Amino acid sequence: MSAPREEIPFFTGAASLRAGWAGLEARLRTVARSGRFTYGPLGRELEQAIAERTGARHAVAVGNGTDALVILLRAAGIGPGDEVIVPAYTFFATASSVLHVGAEPVLVDILPGSYAMDPEAARAAITERTRAIMPVHLFSQMADMRRLRDLADEHGLLLLEDSAEGIDMVMGGVHAGLWGKGGVLSFFPTKTLGSLGDAGMVLTDDDEVAARARRLRSHGQEVDGSYEYLELGYNSRLDEIQSAVLLTRLETLGAEIERRAEIAARYDRQLAALAPAVRTPWFPETAEPGNPVFYVYLIESDRRDALVEYLTEHGVGTEVYYPRALTEQPALAALAGARHPVPVAVAASRRAVGLPLYPDLTDDQVDRVCELIARFHKETP
Ligand SMILES: *Cc1c(COP(=O)(O)O)cnc(C)c1O
Repeated sequence: MSAPREEIPFFTGAASLRAGWAGLEARLRTVARSGRFTYGPLGRELEQAIAERTGARHAVAVGNGTDALVILLRAAGIGPGDEVIVPAYTFFATASSVLHVGAEPVLVDILPGSYAMDPEAARAAITERTRAIMPVHLFSQMADMRRLRDLADEHGLLLLEDSAEGIDMVMGGVHAGLWGKGGVLSFFPTKTLGSLGDAGMVLTDDDEVAARARRLRSHGQEVDGSYEYLELGYNSRLDEIQSAVLLTRLETLGAEIERRAEIAARYDRQLAALAPAVRTPWFPETAEPGNPVFYVYLIESDRRDALVEYLTEHGVGTEVYYPRALTEQPALAALAGARHPVPVAVAASRRAVGLPLYPDLTDDQVDRVCELIARFHKETP
Protein backbone atom coordinates (compact mmCIF):
# COMPACT_ATOMS: atom_id res chain seq x y z
CA MET A 1 0.00 0.00 0.00
CA SER A 2 1.33 3.41 -0.88
CA ALA A 3 1.61 6.10 1.77
CA PRO A 4 -1.64 8.05 2.13
CA ARG A 5 -1.68 11.53 0.66
CA GLU A 6 -1.39 14.12 3.39
CA GLU A 7 -4.45 16.28 2.80
CA ILE A 8 -3.94 18.51 5.82
CA PRO A 9 -0.24 18.77 6.60
CA PHE A 10 0.88 19.44 10.14
CA PHE A 11 2.53 22.60 8.88
CA THR A 12 2.72 24.61 5.69
CA GLY A 13 3.38 28.26 5.04
CA ALA A 14 2.94 28.16 1.28
CA ALA A 15 -0.13 30.42 1.03
CA SER A 16 1.25 33.03 3.44
CA LEU A 17 4.49 33.03 1.51
CA ARG A 18 2.66 33.61 -1.76
CA ALA A 19 0.64 36.45 -0.23
CA GLY A 20 3.75 38.28 0.96
CA TRP A 21 5.89 37.45 -2.04
CA ALA A 22 6.08 40.91 -3.65
CA GLY A 23 7.48 42.54 -0.53
CA LEU A 24 9.83 39.66 0.12
CA GLU A 25 11.12 39.65 -3.43
CA ALA A 26 12.03 43.33 -3.19
CA ARG A 27 13.99 42.71 0.01
CA LEU A 28 15.71 39.62 -1.40
CA ARG A 29 16.78 41.64 -4.42
CA THR A 30 18.28 44.23 -2.10
CA VAL A 31 20.24 41.49 -0.33
CA ALA A 32 21.45 39.95 -3.58
CA ARG A 33 22.69 43.31 -4.85
CA SER A 34 24.25 44.43 -1.57
CA GLY A 35 26.97 41.79 -1.41
CA ARG A 36 26.29 41.51 2.38
CA PHE A 37 24.98 38.02 3.06
CA THR A 38 25.81 37.28 6.67
CA TYR A 39 24.76 39.69 9.43
CA GLY A 40 24.36 43.19 7.97
CA PRO A 41 21.90 46.08 7.59
CA LEU A 42 18.77 43.92 7.45
CA GLY A 43 19.93 42.00 10.53
CA ARG A 44 20.24 45.30 12.39
CA GLU A 45 16.83 46.39 11.16
CA LEU A 46 15.35 43.11 12.37
CA GLU A 47 17.01 43.48 15.78
CA GLN A 48 15.51 46.91 16.14
CA ALA A 49 12.06 45.72 15.05
CA ILE A 50 12.14 42.80 17.50
CA ALA A 51 13.43 45.03 20.31
CA GLU A 52 10.54 47.41 19.70
CA ARG A 53 7.97 44.65 19.50
CA THR A 54 9.09 42.87 22.68
CA GLY A 55 10.23 45.89 24.66
CA ALA A 56 13.71 44.38 25.00
CA ARG A 57 16.56 46.83 25.48
CA HIS A 58 18.71 44.58 23.29
CA ALA A 59 17.96 42.00 20.62
CA VAL A 60 20.98 40.13 19.25
CA ALA A 61 20.39 38.18 16.03
CA VAL A 62 22.11 34.79 15.81
CA GLY A 63 22.05 31.70 13.59
CA ASN A 64 19.27 29.75 15.35
CA GLY A 65 17.42 29.38 18.64
CA THR A 66 19.77 26.74 19.99
CA ASP A 67 22.80 28.98 19.45
CA ALA A 68 20.82 31.79 21.09
CA LEU A 69 20.50 29.62 24.23
CA VAL A 70 24.19 28.68 24.25
CA ILE A 71 25.22 32.29 23.71
CA LEU A 72 22.77 33.58 26.34
CA LEU A 73 24.02 31.07 28.92
CA ARG A 74 27.65 31.97 28.26
CA ALA A 75 26.94 35.69 28.15
CA ALA A 76 25.20 35.35 31.53
CA GLY A 77 28.35 33.70 32.91
CA ILE A 78 27.10 30.11 33.19
CA GLY A 79 29.89 27.54 32.86
CA PRO A 80 31.61 24.46 34.31
CA GLY A 81 30.57 23.59 37.86
CA ASP A 82 27.22 25.35 37.57
CA GLU A 83 23.84 23.67 37.71
CA VAL A 84 20.94 25.07 35.73
CA ILE A 85 17.42 23.89 36.57
CA VAL A 86 15.31 23.25 33.48
CA PRO A 87 11.97 21.49 32.95
CA ALA A 88 12.03 17.82 31.88
CA TYR A 89 9.37 18.40 29.23
CA THR A 90 10.72 20.59 26.46
CA PHE A 91 12.74 20.55 23.27
CA PHE A 92 16.15 18.90 23.65
CA ALA A 93 18.03 22.19 23.16
CA THR A 94 16.86 23.56 26.52
CA ALA A 95 19.09 20.99 28.21
CA SER A 96 21.74 20.45 25.52
CA SER A 97 22.60 24.17 25.52
CA VAL A 98 23.41 23.93 29.23
CA LEU A 99 25.73 20.97 28.55
CA HIS A 100 27.34 22.81 25.65
CA VAL A 101 28.53 25.59 27.96
CA GLY A 102 30.00 22.99 30.33
CA ALA A 103 27.30 23.28 32.99
CA GLU A 104 24.84 20.65 34.22
CA PRO A 105 21.15 20.65 33.47
CA VAL A 106 18.95 19.54 36.37
CA LEU A 107 15.64 18.27 35.02
CA VAL A 108 12.51 18.94 37.08
CA ASP A 109 8.84 18.24 36.66
CA ILE A 110 6.23 20.47 35.05
CA LEU A 111 2.74 21.63 35.94
CA PRO A 112 -0.16 20.08 34.05
CA GLY A 113 -1.89 22.54 31.73
CA SER A 114 0.95 24.98 31.19
CA TYR A 115 3.47 22.16 30.59
CA ALA A 116 5.95 24.54 32.20
CA MET A 117 8.38 24.24 35.10
CA ASP A 118 6.72 23.52 38.45
CA PRO A 119 8.11 26.15 40.84
CA GLU A 120 7.92 23.73 43.79
CA ALA A 121 9.81 21.05 41.88
CA ALA A 122 12.43 23.67 40.99
CA ARG A 123 12.70 24.72 44.63
CA ALA A 124 13.28 21.11 45.70
CA ALA A 125 16.11 20.74 43.17
CA ILE A 126 18.19 23.72 44.35
CA THR A 127 21.68 22.83 45.59
CA GLU A 128 24.68 24.99 46.46
CA ARG A 129 25.85 24.63 42.86
CA THR A 130 22.61 25.92 41.34
CA ARG A 131 23.36 29.12 39.44
CA ALA A 132 20.24 29.62 37.36
CA ILE A 133 16.73 28.45 36.64
CA MET A 134 15.62 28.40 33.03
CA PRO A 135 11.88 27.88 32.57
CA VAL A 136 10.42 27.31 29.10
CA HIS A 137 7.25 28.78 27.61
CA LEU A 138 5.64 26.06 25.53
CA PHE A 139 2.90 25.89 22.90
CA SER A 140 0.60 28.75 23.86
CA GLN A 141 1.30 30.03 27.34
CA MET A 142 4.02 31.19 29.66
CA ALA A 143 5.43 29.53 32.74
CA ASP A 144 4.32 30.88 36.12
CA MET A 145 6.88 33.68 35.99
CA ARG A 146 5.89 35.51 39.17
CA ARG A 147 6.52 32.48 41.33
CA LEU A 148 9.65 31.53 39.41
CA ARG A 149 11.09 35.02 39.70
CA ASP A 150 10.34 35.08 43.42
CA LEU A 151 12.07 31.71 43.74
CA ALA A 152 15.14 32.95 41.84
CA ASP A 153 15.29 36.13 43.92
CA GLU A 154 14.86 34.25 47.19
CA HIS A 155 17.85 32.00 46.42
CA GLY A 156 20.04 34.52 44.57
CA LEU A 157 19.76 32.61 41.28
CA LEU A 158 19.85 33.93 37.75
CA LEU A 159 16.54 33.73 35.95
CA LEU A 160 16.95 32.88 32.26
CA GLU A 161 14.16 31.88 29.88
CA ASP A 162 13.98 29.49 26.98
CA SER A 163 11.39 31.69 25.31
CA ALA A 164 12.17 30.21 21.87
CA GLU A 165 8.42 29.74 21.25
CA GLY A 166 7.43 32.93 23.02
CA ILE A 167 7.13 35.70 20.44
CA ASP A 168 4.28 38.03 21.52
CA MET A 169 3.60 36.06 24.72
CA VAL A 170 3.20 38.56 27.53
CA MET A 171 2.52 38.18 31.25
CA GLY A 172 1.94 41.14 33.56
CA GLY A 173 3.01 43.48 30.76
CA VAL A 174 6.42 41.80 30.42
CA HIS A 175 7.28 39.94 27.22
CA ALA A 176 8.56 36.37 27.40
CA GLY A 177 12.33 36.35 27.80
CA LEU A 178 12.49 39.59 29.75
CA TRP A 179 11.51 38.49 33.25
CA GLY A 180 15.11 37.91 34.29
CA LYS A 181 18.60 38.20 32.82
CA GLY A 182 17.47 37.31 29.32
CA GLY A 183 15.76 34.96 26.93
CA VAL A 184 15.78 33.83 23.33
CA LEU A 185 13.61 33.60 20.25
CA SER A 186 13.71 30.90 17.60
CA PHE A 187 12.59 31.65 14.07
CA PHE A 188 12.63 28.00 13.00
CA PRO A 189 10.19 27.70 10.06
CA THR A 190 7.27 26.22 12.02
CA LYS A 191 7.49 28.78 14.85
CA THR A 192 4.91 31.57 15.17
CA LEU A 193 7.37 33.87 13.41
CA GLY A 194 9.24 31.51 11.11
CA SER A 195 11.98 32.10 8.57
CA LEU A 196 12.81 29.98 5.54
CA GLY A 197 15.62 28.25 7.38
CA ASP A 198 17.31 28.61 10.75
CA ALA A 199 17.39 31.89 12.65
CA GLY A 200 17.32 33.02 16.27
CA MET A 201 17.76 35.90 18.67
CA VAL A 202 18.93 36.69 22.19
CA LEU A 203 16.72 39.11 24.14
CA THR A 204 18.00 40.96 27.19
CA ASP A 205 17.69 44.23 29.07
CA ASP A 206 21.25 43.83 30.38
CA ASP A 207 23.91 45.88 28.55
CA GLU A 208 26.77 43.55 29.48
CA VAL A 209 24.95 40.38 28.51
CA ALA A 210 24.06 41.98 25.17
CA ALA A 211 27.62 43.14 24.49
CA ARG A 212 29.00 39.71 25.27
CA ALA A 213 26.33 37.99 23.16
CA ARG A 214 27.30 40.20 20.20
CA ARG A 215 30.94 39.27 20.69
CA LEU A 216 30.22 35.54 21.05
CA ARG A 217 28.15 35.32 17.86
CA SER A 218 31.09 36.62 15.86
CA HIS A 219 34.05 34.45 16.98
CA GLY A 220 34.67 36.61 20.04
CA GLN A 221 35.39 39.82 18.15
CA GLU A 222 34.42 43.12 19.71
CA VAL A 223 34.40 44.66 16.25
CA ASP A 224 33.17 42.49 13.38
CA GLY A 225 35.97 41.99 10.87
CA SER A 226 38.68 43.28 13.19
CA TYR A 227 40.39 39.86 13.37
CA GLU A 228 40.95 40.50 17.07
CA TYR A 229 39.43 37.75 19.20
CA LEU A 230 38.86 38.58 22.86
CA GLU A 231 37.49 35.17 23.77
CA LEU A 232 36.41 31.94 22.16
CA GLY A 233 33.14 32.56 20.35
CA TYR A 234 31.02 31.03 17.61
CA ASN A 235 30.16 31.64 14.01
CA SER A 236 26.48 32.35 14.55
CA ARG A 237 25.49 35.39 12.56
CA LEU A 238 22.03 35.68 11.10
CA ASP A 239 21.92 35.51 7.30
CA GLU A 240 20.58 38.61 5.59
CA ILE A 241 18.21 36.45 3.53
CA GLN A 242 16.53 35.21 6.71
CA SER A 243 16.36 38.77 8.06
CA ALA A 244 14.63 39.78 4.81
CA VAL A 245 12.10 36.98 5.29
CA LEU A 246 11.51 37.84 8.93
CA LEU A 247 11.13 41.58 8.34
CA THR A 248 8.53 40.80 5.70
CA ARG A 249 6.69 38.31 7.88
CA LEU A 250 6.70 40.72 10.84
CA GLU A 251 4.36 42.96 8.85
CA THR A 252 1.58 40.35 9.04
CA LEU A 253 2.50 38.68 12.35
CA GLY A 254 -0.25 40.40 14.36
CA ALA A 255 -2.94 39.27 11.91
CA GLU A 256 -1.45 35.78 11.77
CA ILE A 257 -1.52 35.47 15.56
CA GLU A 258 -5.18 36.55 15.53
CA ARG A 259 -5.92 33.87 12.94
CA ARG A 260 -4.13 31.32 15.10
CA ALA A 261 -6.36 32.32 18.04
CA GLU A 262 -9.48 31.91 15.88
CA ILE A 263 -8.39 28.45 14.83
CA ALA A 264 -7.63 27.50 18.44
CA ALA A 265 -11.10 28.72 19.51
CA ARG A 266 -12.68 26.71 16.70
CA TYR A 267 -10.86 23.58 17.86
CA ASP A 268 -11.87 24.34 21.48
CA ARG A 269 -15.55 24.64 20.61
CA GLN A 270 -15.72 21.41 18.63
CA LEU A 271 -13.46 19.25 20.75
CA ALA A 272 -15.07 20.26 24.06
CA ALA A 273 -17.80 17.68 23.41
CA LEU A 274 -15.17 14.91 23.49
CA ALA A 275 -14.06 15.60 27.07
CA PRO A 276 -12.73 13.83 29.05
CA ALA A 277 -11.34 11.51 26.34
CA VAL A 278 -9.77 14.54 24.70
CA ARG A 279 -8.34 17.34 26.78
CA THR A 280 -8.06 20.74 25.07
CA PRO A 281 -5.56 23.41 26.17
CA TRP A 282 -6.20 24.85 29.63
CA PHE A 283 -4.50 27.04 32.20
CA PRO A 284 -3.50 25.70 35.59
CA GLU A 285 -5.35 27.53 38.36
CA THR A 286 -2.12 28.23 40.21
CA ALA A 287 -0.62 30.22 37.35
CA GLU A 288 -1.50 33.66 36.17
CA PRO A 289 -2.51 33.18 32.56
CA GLY A 290 -0.58 35.53 30.33
CA ASN A 291 -1.50 36.60 26.86
CA PRO A 292 -1.82 33.25 25.07
CA VAL A 293 -0.24 33.02 21.63
CA PHE A 294 -1.08 29.78 19.89
CA TYR A 295 2.16 28.50 18.44
CA VAL A 296 0.97 24.90 18.94
CA TYR A 297 -2.54 23.61 19.64
CA LEU A 298 -1.81 20.69 21.93
CA ILE A 299 -4.42 18.19 23.02
CA GLU A 300 -4.12 15.22 25.34
CA SER A 301 -5.68 11.82 24.81
CA ASP A 302 -5.52 8.51 26.68
CA ARG A 303 -5.20 6.84 23.28
CA ARG A 304 -2.80 9.30 21.73
CA ASP A 305 -0.82 6.85 19.60
CA ALA A 306 -3.93 5.22 18.10
CA LEU A 307 -5.41 8.68 17.44
CA VAL A 308 -2.22 9.81 15.69
CA GLU A 309 -2.30 6.68 13.55
CA TYR A 310 -5.96 7.24 12.66
CA LEU A 311 -5.38 10.87 11.70
CA THR A 312 -2.33 9.92 9.63
CA GLU A 313 -4.37 7.30 7.77
CA HIS A 314 -6.96 9.95 7.01
CA GLY A 315 -4.48 12.47 5.70
CA VAL A 316 -4.04 14.70 8.74
CA GLY A 317 -0.54 15.52 9.91
CA THR A 318 0.19 15.76 13.63
CA GLU A 319 3.33 16.24 15.69
CA VAL A 320 4.02 14.60 19.02
CA TYR A 321 5.55 17.26 21.25
CA TYR A 322 7.45 15.65 22.98
CA PRO A 323 7.53 11.86 22.72
CA ARG A 324 9.90 11.49 25.69
CA ALA A 325 10.59 13.38 28.87
CA LEU A 326 14.20 14.62 28.79
CA THR A 327 15.02 12.20 31.61
CA GLU A 328 14.30 9.43 29.08
CA GLN A 329 16.58 10.79 26.35
CA PRO A 330 19.61 8.55 25.74
CA ALA A 331 21.93 11.56 25.70
CA LEU A 332 20.70 12.82 29.07
CA ALA A 333 19.42 9.84 31.07
CA ALA A 334 22.77 9.15 32.77
CA LEU A 335 23.12 12.69 34.14
CA ALA A 336 22.95 13.19 37.88
CA GLY A 337 20.43 15.91 37.10
CA ALA A 338 18.09 13.39 35.44
CA ARG A 339 17.24 11.62 38.70
CA HIS A 340 14.40 13.76 39.96
CA PRO A 341 10.98 12.15 39.58
CA VAL A 342 9.07 13.80 36.72
CA PRO A 343 5.71 12.00 36.57
CA VAL A 344 3.79 14.88 34.99
CA ALA A 345 6.38 15.23 32.22
CA VAL A 346 6.34 11.49 31.53
CA ALA A 347 2.52 11.42 31.44
CA ALA A 348 2.44 14.37 29.03
CA SER A 349 4.93 12.64 26.75
CA ARG A 350 2.51 9.69 26.44
CA ARG A 351 -0.68 11.74 26.04
CA ALA A 352 0.05 14.97 24.18
CA VAL A 353 -0.15 15.68 20.46
CA GLY A 354 -0.14 18.88 18.43
CA LEU A 355 -2.85 19.40 15.80
CA PRO A 356 -2.35 21.45 12.61
CA LEU A 357 -2.34 25.17 13.48
CA TYR A 358 -1.03 27.82 11.11
CA PRO A 359 -2.52 30.84 9.33
CA ASP A 360 -2.87 28.94 6.04
CA LEU A 361 -5.31 26.49 7.63
CA THR A 362 -8.95 27.01 6.58
CA ASP A 363 -12.04 26.67 8.79
CA ASP A 364 -13.08 23.68 6.69
CA GLN A 365 -9.80 21.98 7.40
CA VAL A 366 -10.18 22.61 11.13
CA ASP A 367 -13.70 21.15 10.99
CA ARG A 368 -12.40 18.12 9.10
CA VAL A 369 -9.73 17.47 11.76
CA CYS A 370 -12.35 17.75 14.53
CA GLU A 371 -14.75 15.49 12.66
CA LEU A 372 -12.05 12.85 12.29
CA ILE A 373 -11.14 13.04 15.97
CA ALA A 374 -14.83 12.64 16.88
CA ARG A 375 -15.19 9.74 14.46
CA PHE A 376 -12.13 8.03 15.91
CA HIS A 377 -13.75 8.08 19.34
CA LYS A 378 -17.06 6.79 17.97
CA GLU A 379 -15.59 4.05 15.80
CA THR A 380 -13.08 2.79 18.34
CA PRO A 381 -14.70 3.41 21.71
C1 LIG B 1 12.51 25.70 18.69
C2 LIG B 1 12.99 25.61 20.08
C3 LIG B 1 14.35 25.72 20.41
C4 LIG B 1 15.46 25.72 19.40
O1 LIG B 1 15.37 26.62 18.38
P1 LIG B 1 16.09 26.30 16.99
O2 LIG B 1 15.93 27.60 16.27
O3 LIG B 1 15.35 25.17 16.36
O4 LIG B 1 17.50 25.98 17.26
C5 LIG B 1 14.71 25.71 21.75
N1 LIG B 1 13.79 25.57 22.71
C6 LIG B 1 12.48 25.44 22.43
C7 LIG B 1 11.52 25.32 23.56
C8 LIG B 1 12.04 25.43 21.11
O5 LIG B 1 10.74 25.27 20.86
